[in-house]
Amino acid sequence: MIQSTHVSELKNKAEQQVIVQGFVHTLRVQSKIIFLILRDTTGLVQNIIEISTPEVFETAKNLSHESVVRITGIVKDAPQAPGGFEIGVTALEVLSHANPELPIPVVVKGSDEETEAPTRFDYRWLDLRKPEKANVFKVWTELEKGFRSYWSENNFTQIYTPSFMSTPSETGAEVFEVNYFDRKAYLAQSPQFYKQMAIASGLERVFMVGPVFRAEESFTTRHMTEFTGWDFEVGFIESHHDIMDLEEGMIVAGFEQIKKTFPELELTVPARPFPRITIVEAKEILASLNVESGEEHDLSPEEEKKISEYVKNEMNHDFVFITEYHKSKSAFYHMRLSEGSDRSRRADLLFKGIEITTLAQREHRIDILEKQAVDKGMHLEPLKDYLNFFRYGCPPHGGAGIGPARLIMKVLDLQNVREATYIPRDVKRLNP
Ligand code: ATP
Repeated sequence: MIQSTHVSELKNKAEQQVIVQGFVHTLRVQSKIIFLILRDTTGLVQNIIEISTPEVFETAKNLSHESVVRITGIVKDAPQAPGGFEIGVTALEVLSHANPELPIPVVVKGSDEETEAPTRFDYRWLDLRKPEKANVFKVWTELEKGFRSYWSENNFTQIYTPSFMSTPSETGAEVFEVNYFDRKAYLAQSPQFYKQMAIASGLERVFMVGPVFRAEESFTTRHMTEFTGWDFEVGFIESHHDIMDLEEGMIVAGFEQIKKTFPELELTVPARPFPRITIVEAKEILASLNVESGEEHDLSPEEEKKISEYVKNEMNHDFVFITEYHKSKSAFYHMRLSEGSDRSRRADLLFKGIEITTLAQREHRIDILEKQAVDKGMHLEPLKDYLNFFRYGCPPHGGAGIGPARLIMKVLDLQNVREATYIPRDVKRLNP
């Protein structure tokens, strides 16, 4: 590979010859001098091409924006240039010529309106050339680095679960059905059943990062049909509070990692413990604030927003766990709070007004699990593989499913979860 220098490293290279590579960000051609701003993945640098190097001058003159070039030159101090230095170009190689008719602008000037999201997503690779868009995934990388180091320090094992399932994992209402040779298969809407199998396998603590599919006809700013899920599952817990404790640790580790790499974001690392409010208490608080109640046992998006605002005002916290959902809002595999209780050991984590996690202690006692499934009107036959996990000894356990795109969306104050997704998929979008 050519020994090139990234723009971010140029400050240590004054008076040295360097090779830089990247896109033509802007080009200003004058009669005797050309100013070419080059953009690489780390920043922008001004390059000066003078008429005294006629071949280079001629090549540069005919460049189009967004062409890909390799420049050789000498780094010079230049207080007036962005970054305080520039490159006096001695050689210029065009690696790829860009069609001058760009379908969307890459360089958006001050007051120019940004292209509408659907059009930007059609040309996502051009959209992502904008440093602030690419930055989303750099922040995500740091968040995930923090999570992974937490998982590693706390003895989690990574697993990968399949996306093809022979039966719909939960109600069947939200799953994609696909042709699978001579039969039907379903795309996993959560890796949960297989994470639980890992606990029955004796792995004790597992995590995974993988695709999740939802066949929901949702057109909101927080729903997609495919998204990345972060999931973990832990054995030998005493209650859902253990899962909340672990998730707090993960989030703090992720936020600390972002803060270390991106101090300019001025991210607040959340204090532990995060507030925990039962759904009953949440409804009482919302009633006292005169917020219209939707469903009796659930929070509407508006209620999630309002309860988060309340927690921010009263407890100065961006996160809140809403706990102990009614059994009607709990899955058959959620353990009840105690025998005969109509509340379950389930919690949702809200961050700045939206849900980013559902977590729970699962029911590991096969007789109770079967009864809860029957009570929900489910047939046991399609569940037999899952139910078998619990017939030969399985530790008490629980876990969480986290939506990192929603987390990143709120960390960076983006308007839509799609902006935090490399190539979004939704009801209308299957391209590029
Ligand atoms: P919601 O009530 O917002 O539709 P959910 O209850 O269906 O979410 P879960 O099934 O608990 O969500 O999924 C776990 C996490 O995955 C959610 O907390 C959220 O962060 C994320 N998530 C769920 N559905 C979507 C989606 N369609 N697009 C993007 N992220 C999602």
